[in-house]
Amino acid sequence: MPISPEKRLRETIPIDMMNIRTLASGSSGNAYLVSDGVTTLLLEAGIPIKSIARQASLSSIDACLISHEHGDHAKSAADIVRKYSIDLYASHGTLDALCLSCDYRVHPVKAEEQCDIGTFVVMPLAMKHDAAEPLGFIITSRHGGKLLFATDTYLIPYKIPHGTTVLMLECNYSMELLAQSITSGVTDHRQRERLRFSHMSLEYLLQYLSENKDRLGSVSEICLIHMSGRNGDRALFKRKVQELTGLPVIVE
Ligand SMILES: [Zn+2]
Ligand SMILES: [Zn+2]
Repeated sequence: MPISPEKRLRETIPIDMMNIRTLASGSSGNAYLVSDGVTTLLLEAGIPIKSIARQASLSSIDACLISHEHGDHAKSAADIVRKYSIDLYASHGTLDALCLSCDYRVHPVKAEEQCDIGTFVVMPLAMKHDAAEPLGFIITSRHGGKLLFATDTYLIPYKIPHGTTVLMLECNYSMELLAQSITSGVTDHRQRERLRFSHMSLEYLLQYLSENKDRLGSVSEICLIHMSGRNGDRALFKRKVQELTGLPVIVE
């Protein structure tokens, strides 16, 4: 089969230096490790600290970033700061909601005001979720690699940044599966309304990716995160995103 010009272009892009590991993903807990070999970030702390410690060495974590205060993202935030003295970055709204604003190890960050964390440059982004001040992040390593991380948001009010190498995007539910679970009584109308204005649907994600197709040339991988157990379908979501983008897709 002839190789498309798009694919050939992607093959010439060097493998980026970012190493990403999922410790947990979904409404029962989220935690991801992002490392460029020099700095290691814990992205979300939504599982018990013991569970993080079982999967990773806590002493190797340089800092923790939290998107918002919900338990599935922030369960062990206080332990991270108080018991393990790991620096924590989150918005003022998130820190206030977690009663962590006054702690020594916390660093309030604001949407669109970048900060340096070791060898990473982090640009927080404002997200749309039913939380105090939710953030997404663009995480760029000085050693190569740029990650766009957006979860718990029903839309992404930004273009994919130029040069992005990895996308970690929420793909929580599909409208079709949600309609089915309403019909069968598994989900009620109130839950549906909450989902529509707090989490990302497959349909929105596909629209976002097609509107940003010109920004996908440097992307080597798309990672779908925070899938709903009731209203998600791993194989279907993976196939739909793969068909649209032609990129490797991982479902966490
Ligand atoms: Zn969540
Ligand atoms: Zn949430």
